[in-house]
Amino acid sequence: MKEKNAIRSRRLFLAASAAGLAGGTHLAGAQSSGTAAAAQPVQPPAGNFPIKSISSANGQRTTKRAYEMILQGADTLDASVAGVTIVEDDPNDTSVGYGGLPNELGVVQLDAAVMHGPSHQAGCVASLERIRNPAKVAQLVLERTDHVLLVGRGALEFARAHGFQEENLLTDRARKIWLRWKQTMSDRDDWLTPPDESDDTDKQAAAILRNRPTGTIHCASMNAGGDISCVTTTSGLAFKIDGRVGDSPIIGAGLYVDNEIGSCGSTGRGEANLQNQCSFAAVELMRSGMTPVEAGLEVLRRVSKHTVPRLRNEKGEPDFGLNFYLLRKDGMHGGVAMRGAAKFAVTDENGTRLEPCTTLY
Ligand code: ASP
Repeated sequence: MKEKNAIRSRRLFLAASAAGLAGGTHLAGAQSSGTAAAAQPVQPPAGNFPIKSISSANGQRTTKRAYEMILQGADTLDASVAGVTIVEDDPNDTSVGYGGLPNELGVVQLDAAVMHGPSHQAGCVASLERIRNPAKVAQLVLERTDHVLLVGRGALEFARAHGFQEENLLTDRARKIWLRWKQTMSDRDDWLTPPDESDDTDKQAAAILRNRPTGTIHCASMNAGGDISCVTTTSGLAFKIDGRVGDSPIIGAGLYVDNEIGSCGSTGRGEANLQNQCSFAAVELMRSGMTPVEAGLEVLRRVSKHTVPRLRNEKGEPDFGLNFYLLRKDGMHGGVAMRGAAKFAVTDENGTRLEPCTTLY
């Protein structure tokens, strides 16, 4: 394990050095970005960046864990992945990892991606079955392969080769929600509508199904040296078509970090994000001087403008959820949401809390 970490650190150090990013040269890079550089916020000298971790609202335990690990000297990617692993392992979070809601066939297919700011390296897995921690597998794709994205059977074989245990990820609760969805989808098939909710799980299933269930976890963390890494992990859109891959494991959509500028990651309707490459766009907007919230709202406006009529409500607004979580190099953070009240988790020197997202509609 020690040797593995040493090799990895060396690889990441070499990559960072080759990119001219080692030794706190990030400021020079930021200043070289043309007219936009004039709007760059003043950044603290290396070693004085505010340590912090942000996440979607389901990640208070995540940001706390990541923050504590960074205080103890952990790499920002190791800390972020350790943070989301808590949620991947939690059967009560039906949007991530073990206990995640399955696809239309009743099979849990997981997507995840990681991005390490100092080396600008990424790793991703998509449609991974039977492995509860896809974020760790994505991190190994980054560390142990010359590739960025592995999918399906290949991703599973890769995880098995690295000793990950296969298991059935479909909990009884997730199965019941899926079964009720199947039974209530249509009155033009052979599945009969189930009787009224008989037990608590049935009641929860019925409540969850009043709206299309969504969810994912994104986490981004920064250390005192100003290095930023992030991770996004999900079971994807509940009841998706077999093989559907959303935004979460796609670099530039589900997450993106430029260690000179900041990071952005998403939860919500993946298709809308994929068609607009929002996380990459938001980081570029922060490069041009926007605050995290300004950049997040601008990408949401772009999504809104490009939304097809069938996905708009009677007021003409996009009728779906899409959230972004942004962290700027100077320590400013923000969360934005397409619609409705939403929150995001933050841990920094002021403790762990939920903060409100700024909403477009
Ligand atoms: N973004 C995820 C996806 O489209 C789902 C979600 O966050 O609700 O797969």
